[in-house]
Amino acid sequence: MITPLSLSIHPIWLQVMTKLFTGGCLCGAVRYQSKSKPESSVICHCKDCQKYSGTAFSAVVFIPINDLSISGELSSFNLKVESGHTVTRTFCKTCGSHITEGSDGYPDLAVVTTGTLDDPSWATPMMQCFTSRQHSWAKLDSSIPAFKAMPED
Ligand SMILES: [Zn+2]
Ligand SMILES: [Zn+2]
Repeated sequence: MITPLSLSIHPIWLQVMTKLFTGGCLCGAVRYQSKSKPESSVICHCKDCQKYSGTAFSAVVFIPINDLSISGELSSFNLKVESGHTVTRTFCKTCGSHITEGSDGYPDLAVVTTGTLDDPSWATPMMQCFTSRQHSWAKLDSSIPAFKAMPED
């Protein structure tokens, strides 16, 4: 999977890539904090993300997995995806908020759901992928680089 560092970086990222972040689930049982900057912010329109998020797409930020500390009880769900990799998604045991995603295809990275950030306002997406699955009523700003599937790095 991509960490879209090869893409042109939205100007806002030059300001926020040193930003630490905190967040948590809806009920407050799960809290997390980053120890380093986010690497990227991505929108995914794929069918799995629609199911996982329960809405039209997922918005996530990437961070080195060792730089994310989480407290509280999570449940997890593993799914083998088209690429052959296994994706693990975690959610709060109590309220079901989706917290992280990870893949054996990029084991060094954690993917944190943008909606659970305490302050998601800075997380302007750097790219959107799987627009082949995008709903016509869920179009985003056309200045966000778009890919029909998952771009290779
Ligand atoms: Zn919760
Ligand atoms: Zn997806």
